[in-house]
Amino acid sequence: MSEAAIIDGKAFAEGLRGRVAEFASQFEARAGRKAGLAVVLVGEDPASQVYVRNKGKQTVACGMNSFEHKLAADTGEADLLALVEKLNADPAVDGILVQLPLPSHMNEQKVIATINPDKDVDGFHVVNVGRLATGLPGFVPCTPLGCVMLLKDRLGSLSGLDAVVIGRSNIVGKPMAQLLTAESCTVTVAHSRTKDLPEVVRRADIVVAAVGRPEMVKGDWIKPGATVIDVGINRVPAAEEGKTKLVGDVDFVSASQVAGAITPVPGGVGPMTIAVLLRNTLVAAHRNAGIVLDE
Ligand code: NDP
Repeated sequence: MSEAAIIDGKAFAEGLRGRVAEFASQFEARAGRKAGLAVVLVGEDPASQVYVRNKGKQTVACGMNSFEHKLAADTGEADLLALVEKLNADPAVDGILVQLPLPSHMNEQKVIATINPDKDVDGFHVVNVGRLATGLPGFVPCTPLGCVMLLKDRLGSLSGLDAVVIGRSNIVGKPMAQLLTAESCTVTVAHSRTKDLPEVVRRADIVVAAVGRPEMVKGDWIKPGATVIDVGINRVPAAEEGKTKLVGDVDFVSASQVAGAITPVPGGVGPMTIAVLLRNTLVAAHRNAGIVLDE
């Protein structure tokens, strides 16, 4: 059987960042200011610190302002809400991202609900969730939007294709299903209670795995020629003792023998998330400045 084509998310994300940088410089010329993204990090979770550092670096590299706010883990919820309100009112801030997860003494939903929906570049505010569900312009969560960009780049029109999304989280599975429905796919959402998951996945022209279980989706679940998007990021022990490696939710070795195209982990969906965040920030900047952007 022939090997699947590898969908190079790293290269696609680089291209997207390049386009964002061009639009960011045009925005600066027209608006007389740079677009700005504020990122709020509460606490010292090492993975979150790495994400926030990367977001900051890539924001600046694209010609936008990055405003980083680092708060101690024991910061009170009221102080965080006050900071979000301040950023809502700041005309230099186009996008606001509060890095999740928040410490357990904070109510994440309440914090997200405080962000101005027109600066909610993560697309997690219920107003943006509703806009996506009803087909109104808003902000779409970055990871699923990145997946759709990769799919359309690979397949062109997705209309009429059977898609199976494994996972129904608010940040990946549900918005992914909405986006694929908007692209006129016939969408099945699978989850931990789905009966005979392998059989359900075998029907799909497009498989999106967002489960959080290392290498769960096997090659013999995949319809020959299907396009496989692996959102999972799982750290597992490597062959070499004491070392770890990243794997997805799809068993890449067996799936790539059957699929038509597949995203690798790392280097597939992962790099798309920040690139789409920067794209969303620039869209926010244009809307906030009342400039029409030809997307
Ligand atoms: P969640 O844990 O919020 O959701 C996991 C989903 O998988 C749930 O809907 C759950 O079902 C379902 N599930 C769990 N076990 C099974 C099973 N055995 N069979 C079928 N479905 C199952 O995870 P997220 O959506 O936040 O993330 C999913 C993965 O994507 C993770 O590996 C995460 O690290 C990665 N991720 C990657 C990003 C990127 O930038 N590339 C960004 C965000 C996430 P149920 O609802 O029934 O419990």
